[in-house]
Amino acid sequence: MKVAVLTSGGDAPGMNAAIRAVVRAGIGQGWSMYGVRHGYAGLMAGNFRPLGARDVGEIMQLGGTVLGSARSPEFKTVDGRRKAIREMNKEGIDALVAIGGNGTQTGSHELAAMEFPVVGVASTVDNDLYGSDITIGVDTALNVALEAIDRLKVTASSHGRAFLVELMGRDCGYVALMAGIAGGAEAIVIPEVETDPEDVANEIRRAYKRGKPHALIVVAEGARYNAAGLAAFFKEHEQRLGFDLRVTVLGHVQRGGTPTYADRMLGTRLGAEAIHQIARGNTGVLVGIRQGELAATPLGEVVAGKKQLDTSLLELAGILAK
Ligand code: ATP
Repeated sequence: MKVAVLTSGGDAPGMNAAIRAVVRAGIGQGWSMYGVRHGYAGLMAGNFRPLGARDVGEIMQLGGTVLGSARSPEFKTVDGRRKAIREMNKEGIDALVAIGGNGTQTGSHELAAMEFPVVGVASTVDNDLYGSDITIGVDTALNVALEAIDRLKVTASSHGRAFLVELMGRDCGYVALMAGIAGGAEAIVIPEVETDPEDVANEIRRAYKRGKPHALIVVAEGARYNAAGLAAFFKEHEQRLGFDLRVTVLGHVQRGGTPTYADRMLGTRLGAEAIHQIARGNTGVLVGIRQGELAATPLGEVVAGKKQLDTSLLELAGILAK
């Protein structure tokens, strides 16, 4: 067997652990393993390179992806995908492991629909992928966010200021919600719950009245009132509200951390499981973690499904902020 592995979409800490596990577990099966540079763009360009066990040494502790990633609009077309399959056939590749998030797994699903054996590995810092309760990169992103929040709280307390920190997550509020709770935010704003900026201002005012030395708002980038929206509101009503807001947008910093233990372990388990699924002939699936166990979910289900966020945690956050 010849099996190729690629990383696609947003890079996520722990992807390298997954690449290492795919390659070494594949070698363990007696297969020849290949790396594809720059995701689906590299697949269409026939950018394959044989990977031995030594080639994936010393990468587990690195953030990002040693294979590189890319966003490839051409792969969304049938012609693009035909080109990719042609290149894989030319190289004699029998199966593909695609490590990535929603877009990547939509691409995997399309490849599987064209009868090419593919297994997806759940990896995105946004944790918005159906089929895995937690995805590679989320734990590290949360820890990076928490470090920023803790630091902002120190300076906020010294000056008695209100701070707002915006976290990435595309249209999903998971990272903002969890980091907000674990960081002890006074207010959390996520896309899944409609929030009135006036309520956020009241929350901050109440925090000061209760004698808190600081006030911290955590917002998700995808929220209707994200950093830009809330900052504009607070600026416009500064006189009436009686305080202003210092804004920090964490952006891609959140993605670049050294992978935590949890992400190295998750990448390792999911990477090895992808190989086990191929060995069993069970392709066209996404490997992830469901209810604490390794799980393979058909890609059709993954693409059609929508991951639900437990918004009751927002109420808990409100109670704990008192
Ligand atoms: P993240 O959410 O962490 O950024 P992602 O995998 O969702 O990761 P995207 O940029 O959405 O990142 O997708 C990565 C790549 O997957 C795209 O550049 C494209 O090549 C491929 N892809 C996305 N959508 C489709 C689609 N509908 N059909 C085929 N391929 C797709």
